Amino acid sequence: MKRVSIAAILMLPAALAAAQEKPASPPAHYLRCGAVFQPESGQMRHNVLITVQGERIKEVRENAQAPAGAQIVDLGDHTCLPGLMDTHTHTLLQGDITAADYDEQLLKQSTAYRAILGTRSVRRALEYGFTTIRDLETEGAGYADVDLKKAINNGVIPGPRMKVATRALDVTGAYPLSGYSWEIHVPHGVQVVDGPDEARKAVREQISFGADWIKVYSDRSYFIRPDGVLDDIPTFTMDELRAIVDETHRQRHKVASHAIALNGVHNSIEAGVDSIEHGNYIADADLKTMAAKGIVYVPTLYVGEYVATGRPKVWADMLQIHADTFRRAVAAGVKIAFGTDVGGFDWGINPAVEFPIMVKYGMTPAQAIRSATSNAAELLGMENDAGSIAPGKYADVVALKGDPLADIKLLQKIDFVMKGGEVFKSPGR
Ligand SMILES: [Zn+2]
Repeated sequence: MKRVSIAAILMLPAALAAAQEKPASPPAHYLRCGAVFQPESGQMRHNVLITVQGERIKEVRENAQAPAGAQIVDLGDHTCLPGLMDTHTHTLLQGDITAADYDEQLLKQSTAYRAILGTRSVRRALEYGFTTIRDLETEGAGYADVDLKKAINNGVIPGPRMKVATRALDVTGAYPLSGYSWEIHVPHGVQVVDGPDEARKAVREQISFGADWIKVYSDRSYFIRPDGVLDDIPTFTMDELRAIVDETHRQRHKVASHAIALNGVHNSIEAGVDSIEHGNYIADADLKTMAAKGIVYVPTLYVGEYVATGRPKVWADMLQIHADTFRRAVAAGVKIAFGTDVGGFDWGINPAVEFPIMVKYGMTPAQAIRSATSNAAELLGMENDAGSIAPGKYADVVALKGDPLADIKLLQKIDFVMKGGEVFKSPGR
């Protein structure tokens, strides 16, 4: 009887009318941009009015007027771009030129303290203009990236949208901390797994605790052969790698592989990973497979220059090999997504330093910006939500004074940042 009477009340015309009067959507506000960069065409649209409703873009029109009295941000002297995306970051790491820098963070800082520092990293990422990041493992800080993401999504702290990889995977004896007495138990920067079953279980565990991506370290111990090829010691067996990729894909997630040299890259591609991270040396045949299968290359060029200053000579020699690989990848039509490894270098450095290096090694400025917008969005499975300024997508918009197609360095001077319709940075503030 009671259920029937409630249903009857809900059906009353007055109740229906009241429900309709409740505003269905928040009021629109507006952004005027002198120009808008479109990743798909690589062209600019001029004098553009963007209508924002809630966290999404409603309309993008040229030479249009906002209604009288509407709330409008005037960026008429700015170029607007889709919010940038860095697909390789470490928010829980604060620079590690040397092994000692790395060890100190894992040995002397608690996970709680590292997470506090992480809140600064994500705020900086957003202020630099990166409205989305893929954080590729916490380097010993457990699942703290899941909590950073949660705090951002709950509005507790400012930061970009995050895809997180949690702990990453490597085999026994391959990943720091290393070099300590066997009698001392030291922490590791990864979850150590051996054998296909352990690897598969770790994937299940990481996904159950919030991993969006699974990260593997596929090679180590780099050396340059007399013929100039960068060689390595592969970490996982093919059985282990295949188990990781299979389990991750079975759960509709993706695998990012740290692969710097010949075997690490080749094995990763054979196992079917989704992105190759760093890829200092990639054989021509492997580039061809990457292009054919849509495996994405995330080159992280700047960090190599940065860490070379404090590491053995081979790291300096690897820079030219990396530049050559990047040129060959662009020529082979491999999909390239912007990623920097920031955290491997200090978060006080704007990761947009990567853009001019990409242009120096053969990309057009438009291609470089595309790598950090539409290409990155595709890699992250966010192509319907981000990567361009278009109706229906998140209102993630950044802006700068001048033309980044004429001077790619201007991407280091973003002075307006909107994420999800909310302004986090404005010119002069
Ligand atoms: Zn990294």
